[in-house]
Amino acid sequence: MEIRRTANAGVLLKLDGVSILLDGVCREVKPYPVTPPQERDALLASFPDLVAFTHAHKDHYDPGYAAQYQKQTAGVLLGPKELPGCQATTEPVCVGGVTVTPIPSRHIGGAGKTVAHVSFLIEGSKRILFTGDASPRGWRRDPRASHVDVLLVPYAYANTPAAWNLTKQLDPKSVILLHMPAREDDDIGLWQAVEETAGEDSLLQILSMEQSIVL
Ligand SMILES: [Zn+2]
Repeated sequence: MEIRRTANAGVLLKLDGVSILLDGVCREVKPYPVTPPQERDALLASFPDLVAFTHAHKDHYDPGYAAQYQKQTAGVLLGPKELPGCQATTEPVCVGGVTVTPIPSRHIGGAGKTVAHVSFLIEGSKRILFTGDASPRGWRRDPRASHVDVLLVPYAYANTPAAWNLTKQLDPKSVILLHMPAREDDDIGLWQAVEETAGEDSLLQILSMEQSIVL
């Protein structure tokens, strides 16, 4: 399994020979990084097997990319039906023995009232939960989120002791943190908060833009 960060809060996941783009092309919301143009071009030149978006916020979703993907491949796009500019499905999809299941979830904070949001469970030889901006509290007592091989989450799962406790209670084998600004652009202190909370914990890895890890 290979995981490459291609967007602020998104990755290109390769599992069992199937490539899945999860919130993997985004627009810019400072201080968070945008998908680099060369990365976006590469993802247009060679489309992944599946494309999924959790919600319509700019720092997670690029409607232009979604429209191109559907126009050129007639491929399945998973996400809430409310995503603008594409035809998304909330039904589970299976490709090459890998199943991606959208799970309706609530966006963190006040946006939970207004923004349609789904998370994604990816099951093949490993189980991966991609939360998007779903609230960490929403996973308590949800067996789908328990004991996954990889939990892909935004900073809000690791920037306070309470949030990190909730994350650890899910008992994942590995936690990969997304939705982090570059250290030099971090004028809101996220790196410090995360490092003070969970920096010593071997469970946590922070994935930089365009960095890949193999698990
Ligand atoms: Zn959001």
